[in-house]
Amino acid sequence: MIVMHVETFTVGMLPTNCYVVNCTETKEAIIIDPGLSLDIEAQPIFNYIEKELLTIKFIVNTHGHHDHIDGDGIMQKKYVVPVCIHDSDAYFLNRLENRDVPIDVLLLKDGDSVSFGKACLKVMHTSGHTRGSICLVDDKFMFSGDTLFAESVGRTDFAESSPEDMSITLQKLKSLPDVLLVYPGHDEATLMGKEKRANPFLVNL
Ligand SMILES: [Zn+2]
Ligand SMILES: [Zn+2]
Repeated sequence: MIVMHVETFTVGMLPTNCYVVNCTETKEAIIIDPGLSLDIEAQPIFNYIEKELLTIKFIVNTHGHHDHIDGDGIMQKKYVVPVCIHDSDAYFLNRLENRDVPIDVLLLKDGDSVSFGKACLKVMHTSGHTRGSICLVDDKFMFSGDTLFAESVGRTDFAESSPEDMSITLQKLKSLPDVLLVYPGHDEATLMGKEKRANPFLVNL
């Protein structure tokens, strides 16, 4: 049985959940959404990775908003691995101001996989909050970015949002298994089954 461990770091001003996820067998890992406001916020994450002897394989962005990508550059300087982001949100990386811009970028599309050790997360394109929003899913875990929160969903009033796409996305999410442990871009983790029953944005679809 493949086991993943999820470590949560709350970073940035909003604040954002940055996840370090590793395959417990091989210690290979990914960093999801290092949305650091200040470079100094990277230190506890570096310390944890060093202490646990993890090997970082990828930095993954659930979408291109600043609060999720601002620390990509500093993480890439340290670990020299690709930054993965959906094709439709990659343009956000070029807009980073006063921050290191990631150099090595791997573009994702729906159905791609992000593998680290024996763990594998599938890329689900979940357009709505932004055009290139993704969720990362396996049979136990889901990293939902700003698409799905505990009892809420991401805003769709930005220029890069689409409320129509969001309702198609939420329909897709309703078909996911109840047992999924959902790790969102902000606030606490939740269960997909609970969201299907109690999240007004899913219930009222
Ligand atoms: Zn966002
Ligand atoms: Zn966010």
